Amino acid sequence: MKGKTHIGMGLVTYLSIYNIIPGKFNFLGLFLVVFASILPDVDHPKSMINKYILPFKNKLTKVVLYGCIGLIFLWYDYLYTDAPIMKAIGISFIIIAVSSHRNGLTHSFSGMIMFSFIIGYLGNMYDIHYLVYYFMIGYGMHLFCDMFTNMGVPLFYPFENKKFRFPLTYRTNSKVGSVIEEMLMICGILFTIYRLPVIFCK
Ligand SMILES: [Zn+2]
Repeated sequence: MKGKTHIGMGLVTYLSIYNIIPGKFNFLGLFLVVFASILPDVDHPKSMINKYILPFKNKLTKVVLYGCIGLIFLWYDYLYTDAPIMKAIGISFIIIAVSSHRNGLTHSFSGMIMFSFIIGYLGNMYDIHYLVYYFMIGYGMHLFCDMFTNMGVPLFYPFENKKFRFPLTYRTNSKVGSVIEEMLMICGILFTIYRLPVIFCK
């Protein structure tokens, strides 16, 4: 599924349920939903999120760059901080470096929990306790939507390699797939236009 479709689906979900989550509607939340919606595809060197991070869009660059960032965090932690958050961030980057697309941790519940822990921890550090809810909306919707594609999602990785998908799926980058995603985007935009006045004119 394309990055922009993931962002669209994340935003539609957020706009549908923002009323019942702590923190309600705010722009930090909006940003976090967008970020979390494209984060799982960080395991693909040509994904939307890597378009802005990797200088060269290939596997080797991905492994080297994220691996080095991870090692820097772990090394810094070893020398100066000795804090669980630094270890968690360092290990996360190394996991991103070694995960291949849709086969690893970033498309599983374990990955979602690991990243949510980091976001929750950072949120508590800055006294914004509701950050993790926004993050989980974006991330959870990404995994949910990817289950509509024929590749499926290894939800219980690393405990089980089985890929889960819904009975009705489509092929990403196929003609039908593109049409479905276009339709979803149009519905999403219409829904957003419909919701905006409710959010801003209270
Ligand atoms: Zn994905």
